[in-house]
Amino acid sequence: MSGTHPTDEADVIVVGAGPAGSTTAFYLAQAGLHVLLLEKSRFPREKVCGDGLTPRAVKALVGMGIDVSERNGWLRNKGLRVIGAGHRMELSWPELSSYPDYGLVRPRTDFDETLARRAEQAGALLLENTTVTGPVIDDRTGKIKGVKASNERTYVARAIIAADGNSSRLSVAMGLRKRDDRPLGVAVRTYYKTPRHDDDYLESWLDLWDARPGQQSRLLPGYGWIFGMGDGTSNVGLGLLNTSHAFGNTDYRLMLQKWLDGMPAEWGFGEHNRTEPVRGAALPMGFNRTPHYHRGLLLAGDAGGLVNPFNGEGIAYAMESGEILARTIVQAFARGDAAQAERVLAAYPQALREAYGGYYALGRQFVKLIGHPGLMRYATKHSMTRPALMRFALKLLANLTDPRGGDASDRLINGLSRLVPNPK
Ligand SMILES: Cc1cc2nc3c(=O)[nH]c(=O)nc-3n(C[C@H](O)[C@H](O)[C@H](O)COP(=O)(O)OP(=O)(O)OC[C@H]3O[C@@H](n4cnc5c(N)ncnc54)[C@H](O)[C@@H]3O)c2cc1C
Repeated sequence: MSGTHPTDEADVIVVGAGPAGSTTAFYLAQAGLHVLLLEKSRFPREKVCGDGLTPRAVKALVGMGIDVSERNGWLRNKGLRVIGAGHRMELSWPELSSYPDYGLVRPRTDFDETLARRAEQAGALLLENTTVTGPVIDDRTGKIKGVKASNERTYVARAIIAADGNSSRLSVAMGLRKRDDRPLGVAVRTYYKTPRHDDDYLESWLDLWDARPGQQSRLLPGYGWIFGMGDGTSNVGLGLLNTSHAFGNTDYRLMLQKWLDGMPAEWGFGEHNRTEPVRGAALPMGFNRTPHYHRGLLLAGDAGGLVNPFNGEGIAYAMESGEILARTIVQAFARGDAAQAERVLAAYPQALREAYGGYYALGRQFVKLIGHPGLMRYATKHSMTRPALMRFALKLLANLTDPRGGDASDRLINGLSRLVPNPK
């Protein structure tokens, strides 16, 4: 071991300390494994996001023992305000045994650091400013056995996790690219000083209009959100799916400006109130990178394309997949020999399919349908006047049901998720 630094070997290496990586590292360290969490930036750091957390994400946070009280700086919300076809409707988060009935808002600068520090508290070794530059391959097996980093070091471990987000350079280096047959979103967001900052609902816009004064009203492609941050600002953004004809030839920043120019002046969504640049990023959805275990590499969160295709939510799924993955690794390492451990790790993709496969397969059909603007307009017009239908839609789109003993809508959503064809 001469020349080996104490941090160069670990049980598990986690690449990327976003929600997926920090959650995985937390559960692994809690189980007593030696975990190296490698992060290219230094906290606090920005991440382009809407900063909105549904009850699913709240549950994941609570599971890690994070204090999500308002006293501790978390802003609570009661549900979703949906705006479309000239109507607005406030929908409360459903009352379920499986999830809390409130959501949260927290800037990612802060949120991601909270999770990374929680992983450290559990015993993970976090190395910031450490960019992973490539895999180290075992010549004998062809599998990944470590990673090279920008600090000229090589780190080795029994299991390596790609939690490096949407681009997942590590997955690409191991031959795993995004799938063209799976949904992908692109979204932009920024912040404005606004009197609307203190909002106890997340606000979702189903149709965006270019309603600038003096112009003829025109429907823009895509969907928007306004999430009050409770600090004098709102996070405002919009996104588009690759099933839309406008995908790939849209100027997102201009579209955001057109949409906001049509808003009431007193809301303050003008250039003079913008506090951050308009930034964009991709949302990899519905298992858009598979398999989730490949040549020794395990994928969590955006690296594995785990964003919910129905609503663009990614944080909860990043955290949940991190927990599923950590529990898989803990079980694998407790097996008697390498062949048995391998069998357990190889079952991780199936565990993800059991958790999300059917629901994401439904979501993939949904994004194909809403790619047709006429159909989307028809659906919005006919559902926005029917509260019961919209309450059902909220459960479906936010994936909030009780698996056992729920109401009729829970049973319908869970039944559909089981029935829909779910190819690998
Ligand atoms: C505009 C927009 C709005 C969104 N709004 C919401 C929302 O409101 N709610 C929601 O739930 N989801 C939202 N999402 C999705 C959400 O942001 C992601 O799903 C989530 O961040 C995924 O977490 P992750 O840990 O998998 O990846 P990331 O958060 O991307 O974390 C990856 C980490 O890996 C690090 N990294 C990357 N490469 C390397 C490397 N080579 N070496 C070391 N470290 C590396 C990065 O620095 C980063 O810290 C939004 C996305 C976008 C683009």
